Amino acid sequence: MSRVYNFSAGPAMLPEQVLQQAREELLDWRGTGMSVMEMSHRGKEFMSIAAQTEADLREIMAIPDSYKVLFLQGGASSQFAMVPLNLLGAKKSADYIDTGSWSKKAIAEGGLYCEVNVAGTAEYSVPAQDDLQLNPDAAYLHYTPNETITGVEFPYIPDAGSVPLVADISSTILSRPLDVSRFGVIYAGAQKNIGSAGLTVVIVREDLIGETLPHTPSMFSYKIHADNGSMYNTPPTYGWYLAGLVFDWIKRNGGLETMARINQRKAETLYAAIDGSGFYSNPVDTACRSWMNVPFTLADAVLDRTFLGEAAEQGLFTLKGHRSVGGMRASIYNAMPEQGVDALVAFMADFQKRYG
Ligand code: PMP
Repeated sequence: MSRVYNFSAGPAMLPEQVLQQAREELLDWRGTGMSVMEMSHRGKEFMSIAAQTEADLREIMAIPDSYKVLFLQGGASSQFAMVPLNLLGAKKSADYIDTGSWSKKAIAEGGLYCEVNVAGTAEYSVPAQDDLQLNPDAAYLHYTPNETITGVEFPYIPDAGSVPLVADISSTILSRPLDVSRFGVIYAGAQKNIGSAGLTVVIVREDLIGETLPHTPSMFSYKIHADNGSMYNTPPTYGWYLAGLVFDWIKRNGGLETMARINQRKAETLYAAIDGSGFYSNPVDTACRSWMNVPFTLADAVLDRTFLGEAAEQGLFTLKGHRSVGGMRASIYNAMPEQGVDALVAFMADFQKRYG
């Protein structure tokens, strides 16, 4: 068996130990004679998996007791609607920071339900706290801590005063410690740093859970999901289980402090290779460069196809940039080993020598 270094933005690489454990437990989960996929979500076996998974996430992220953790479906994209449906209440407007494609998607969806005030805008950078035009009467302030496509990451947590802060942390969750108490709601699709696609994790401050806008579907209500322990309907059981294996892997590997140290080292290695090359380049403000998604272009885009073909031959996969920006993108989530980044950097240097 030979596994490749997969730089996909998501669904992305999973830790090999996690996949091996899932394989070992696939047909018979711990002597039950059942696969987790075959278990009733209300049976004691799955209930124990669900509870342990939540407890482990609470432990590694140090989530305060005053927050609910929901294990939902619908992807981060559903949260673009669920946030306004659950948080607007009697308010008519919400603040959004626009730093790229995913912010824009959240803004467009938010605009279906309320007046959107764009409190700050930047591309390949982020607006400074002092430049944010915040409305103290807003229902919430929404932002995207890490823009997956352009590789722009906030170096700070915005301060919205008493207005609840909402963050789409799909592509940066679990990459480093985060002070959850600063947020009203944080949400993430699982397919990058948590596990497999189909699971969405929502962490929401209890006092924000309550009435929804009229005609909100039950499946879009935080209250209904919270009151039912994320089992109002059949939850994504296998994704929930797989997330549990990843959380356990993080715990056994030193927690988020260790993840952060390794992630910083991987990102610095890659950015140094890009910046020092005179051949590759990255357009992002150096203060806001993502640790997780590193886009870069070659000096001549004519070489892109050759680069991708040769990289794949060396086991370096899915380096093509997002269709909206072109070039390359290396996504280097927790499960990407440092050797994967070292192999990419060595390949890039060799490629430049031959074609640069
Ligand atoms: N937000 C961000 C920051 C993302 O990177 C993505 C997916 N790439 C999404 C939202 C959409 O997530 P989903 O596909 O889970 O709806």
